[in-house]
Amino acid sequence: MRPRVSYRVSHFLPPLLLVVGGGVVGSLSGMNEFFTSLFNVLPTLLLLLGGAFCSAYGRVRQVALLLVVYLAYYQLDTQVDYYQAERVVREDAGLVFHLASLLLPMLYGLYGCWEERTHLLQDFVARGAVLMAVLGVTVALGSNYPDAVLGMIGKIYWPLLHGNWMTMVQLAYLAFVVALVALLVAYLRQPRPQHAAQLLGLVGLLWMLPRAFMLPHALHVMSSLVMLALTASVVHEAYQMAFRDELTGLPGRRALNERLRRLGRNYVLAMTDVDHFKKFNDTYGHDVGDQVLRLVASRLRKVGGGGKAYRYGGEEFTILFPGKSVEECMPHLEAVRQAIEQYQMHLRDQDSRPKSDDAGRARRGAASGQTVSVTISIGVAERDAEQRTPEEVIKVADQALYSAKSAGRNRVFRHGENRRGAVRVKKAASS
Ligand code: GH3
Ligand code: MG
Ligand code: MG
Repeated sequence: MRPRVSYRVSHFLPPLLLVVGGGVVGSLSGMNEFFTSLFNVLPTLLLLLGGAFCSAYGRVRQVALLLVVYLAYYQLDTQVDYYQAERVVREDAGLVFHLASLLLPMLYGLYGCWEERTHLLQDFVARGAVLMAVLGVTVALGSNYPDAVLGMIGKIYWPLLHGNWMTMVQLAYLAFVVALVALLVAYLRQPRPQHAAQLLGLVGLLWMLPRAFMLPHALHVMSSLVMLALTASVVHEAYQMAFRDELTGLPGRRALNERLRRLGRNYVLAMTDVDHFKKFNDTYGHDVGDQVLRLVASRLRKVGGGGKAYRYGGEEFTILFPGKSVEECMPHLEAVRQAIEQYQMHLRDQDSRPKSDDAGRARRGAASGQTVSVTISIGVAERDAEQRTPEEVIKVADQALYSAKSAGRNRVFRHGENRRGAVRVKKAASS
């Protein structure tokens, strides 16, 4: 099953809030004692707690990112503390700062784009080995040939690209640009909260580095909030896995169950089922079936009247209308039924083989670029004196759905209209 690829603002919101918050708080010239002490320990605390949490969920990549941010923070913090106490920078401050501003984006970008392997221990060892090798070489060169190293990285390589505003070495800006582009591509290829957090985290670090010595709290605050954003993105993904259906992108059964526990006195539940879907799968193959489910879901998502669609399971969806009566919902359900009936779905290129020869023959008839269509049946019920719990409402909505199927499919039936001779609900004038 190919996961649904969709770019969402919600992927960016939590890290954006944290990074912007980090920028604002980090710019403050004074902070009370409580917050100063808090931000002094927060990076270490976040490395331990966030690292433990991410390890427990097998997110080795986030552990590596946390470690890289922490190491840069730790090195710079030693220098900043000295500077704030003595009002002069330590002898090796330039070397440490420039190495940190060069290695941080390089290692962060590398780990951010480095896909996780299935074998967690191997993954962990490989990332650790790279970190050790890079840091080992850097420390060896830096302590033996500090002037040569500083001269090499501090050189202006492209005078045309150099700006007077640049406080970091030119190579560091180049490393940031390469890492930002790589992380952006990683997000575009695979839009997920972790990739969004990595990208915005790097923007935060780019803001932080030139201000590390100038602003008293920039280093602690931004390192903490970037580490928090990285950890929070793992929580965000865990939440998504639990509550969102991967194929269609709709909230799943668990999300529906959660929602059903918080309903008011009036609501309407509609059970929706794709007609003859087994036959559709047999004819076109399971992959095309999956595509069609996504397209049906995309239409159901747009249902009007305040309705919200959930994937109940398989080719069945539930639409919930909180605070509504059946009369209010019928036109919207009828509109969505018609929209799906009239929806000519264009198939993408097929890249998987049909399971059987029969399916293969049918598939050749359904070459890419072909359009297909399906219909849905809907059973609707509302909470009333007889059906008081969501489970009871779902049960009678299911019965209405069964009646809609028996009456010929591609129709909306409401509970109570499912007796013999029941009148089919009038189609809405427009969809
Ligand atoms: P009816 O009109 O009575 O609903 O007929 P139907 O064939 O749709 O009914 P049934 O519930 O027997 O079949 C449901 C089929 O939906 C079975 C399975 O092949 C298909 N299906 C369920 N989940 C998925 C899915 O995630 N992807 C695909 N491609 N097919 C699915
Ligand atoms: Mg079914
Ligand atoms: Mg069906």
